Amino acid sequence: MDIIKRLSKILDKDSLLTKKEELIPYSRDASYFKGSLPMAVVIPNNVMQLSEIMKICYEEEVPVYVRGAGSSLTGSSVPFEGSIVISMLKFDKILELDIVSRYVIAEAGVRLENLNAYLSKYGYFYPPDPASSIASTVGGTLSTNAGGLRAVMYGATKEWVLGMEVVLPNGT
Ligand SMILES: Cc1cc2nc3c(=O)[nH]c(=O)nc-3n(C[C@H](O)[C@H](O)[C@H](O)COP(=O)(O)OP(=O)(O)OC[C@H]3O[C@@H](n4cnc5c(N)ncnc54)[C@H](O)[C@@H]3O)c2cc1C
Repeated sequence: MDIIKRLSKILDKDSLLTKKEELIPYSRDASYFKGSLPMAVVIPNNVMQLSEIMKICYEEEVPVYVRGAGSSLTGSSVPFEGSIVISMLKFDKILELDIVSRYVIAEAGVRLENLNAYLSKYGYFYPPDPASSIASTVGGTLSTNAGGLRAVMYGATKEWVLGMEVVLPNGT
């Protein structure tokens, strides 16, 4: 079965973009690199859907590009032709804050600015700030180990990660 058909069985039509005008914004990021149009952009709602998408792409041997905000300056989220872009747009929830143990659990698509707006209510902040915090996401900055000006004092992103729930390429 064709991959788009398989994806359409698990995603509603607003979460599976295939029209040219829908794909164009995902063919670029904040760098100068020009990508190609992906085959489709998928916007999963939850981890189960994300796992299923990864499994399908793995079985169909189709490359995937995960996309946070596309604020990368290195072209790392720019796709090649025939690939699938997975947008983390809907993973935008802050799940837990533990003041005593000083940790916060946030989904991969949470923008750093939103995370800091939330933490500021409790008198805390999340130090990684790659000057793109208005857009960049927890997942994207983790993937790039983003630094920024505050890294001089607080270190880069990897210093601030206690654990991760990850979906592997085969969907597990
Ligand atoms: C104005 C500006 C200033 C900047 N200044 C700095 C700076 O001072 N220091 C610095 O380090 N960086 C800087 N950056 C770049 C910064 O690293 C990126 O903005 C940010 O880290 C990428 O986050 P994003 O959510 O936009 O990810 P994207 O650009 O969407 O993706 C970046 C990479 O992460 C991967 N990815 C995204 N989300 C996930 C996920 N959930 N799971 C797995 N992989 C994922 C993508 O596939 C891609 O490889 C700057 C960018 C801008 C635009």
